[in-house]
Amino acid sequence: MNPRFQFSIHATDGKARTGTIQMRRGEIRTPAFMPVGTAATVKAMKPQDVRATGADILLGNTYHLMLRPGAERVARLGGLHKFMNWDRPILTDSGGYQVMSLSELRKITEEGVTFASHIDGSRHMLSPERSMEIQRLLGSDIVMCFDECPKIDQPRDVIARSMEMSMRWAKRSRAAFDAGGEHAANSALFGIQQGALDESLRKTSADALTEIGFDGYAIGGLAVGEGQEAMFATLEFAPGQLPADRPRYLMGVGKPDDLVGAVERGVDMFDCVLPTRSGRNGQAFTWNGPLNMRNARHAEDTGPIDERCKCPTCGTYTRAYLHHLIKAGEMLGAMLLTEHNLSFYQQLMQGMRDAIAEQRFSTFAADFRRDYFRKE
Ligand SMILES: [Zn+2]
Repeated sequence: MNPRFQFSIHATDGKARTGTIQMRRGEIRTPAFMPVGTAATVKAMKPQDVRATGADILLGNTYHLMLRPGAERVARLGGLHKFMNWDRPILTDSGGYQVMSLSELRKITEEGVTFASHIDGSRHMLSPERSMEIQRLLGSDIVMCFDECPKIDQPRDVIARSMEMSMRWAKRSRAAFDAGGEHAANSALFGIQQGALDESLRKTSADALTEIGFDGYAIGGLAVGEGQEAMFATLEFAPGQLPADRPRYLMGVGKPDDLVGAVERGVDMFDCVLPTRSGRNGQAFTWNGPLNMRNARHAEDTGPIDERCKCPTCGTYTRAYLHHLIKAGEMLGAMLLTEHNLSFYQQLMQGMRDAIAEQRFSTFAADFRRDYFRKE
């Protein structure tokens, strides 16, 4: 039987690391990019096609699934893996972030958060205990602690108080997760560092989490509008404050150049809606930067989106055809661009893993930036 959770670092190059996480449902190669399957689907993609892009793990959203179809219903139907036909690892977020960003009429207390559903206005409650219960009902492989993600532009004392409450919630999350019986014996729990852009608050948070002890550690509270420069400045110190022998997961990131810069600073895992959402909006990522497929210059271009891309979309369809599909609002356009974007992201991750293993990551990163930001 595969181990419950085992992280092995195979090579390092500067601060960048490559390795594997072994779990019951399979292996996750790091640095890893996790496509987002918000509502038990990676939008516009069948699960086998998501796997074919090279994804080892998906992310599911607790907030969305608790509201529709409901965690208890998913559990009655055999859990999220069976429900959506994905048998590899799934990481679920805690719901905390989306309660803050999507719901209405929130009330935050030490106990947790009460809120109104953005779908039908119905009242719900999330606490560390309820979040752990929902993630257990879904059958999540990597469970995230319930935390508060405060707006980044608030005064330091507000950020500090929020971080301190998140650390108390981390302790309650650990206790509730550990009481989960068979699920706890077969899955993993990650803590989430908070503290916005402040080095000493980040250190306090990292120390509190390390004291509790987790399988992996997320860097939360970034990619919330601070900009890449401030995010990278925080990543100069935040990953190094977390245990070196555990995976470090930067939540909600990001653009291809964000991923390269964060791996360079010691991050192992990522998730982001960007490749899927952009695909539905007609944006294609390439080694030479993003393309707007609506642009008239693609109208009679018989080349692929990206000459170097190995995805089925690039092997089969022209820019001209994709331009037409997107302009006409055809759903196949969204499907093909999503497939390309997810595949491009996985090819980027594989490129980084290979470069770290071969001790040439700085050259890889420099070549990537030269091509990605080259003005045509
Ligand atoms: Zn492609």
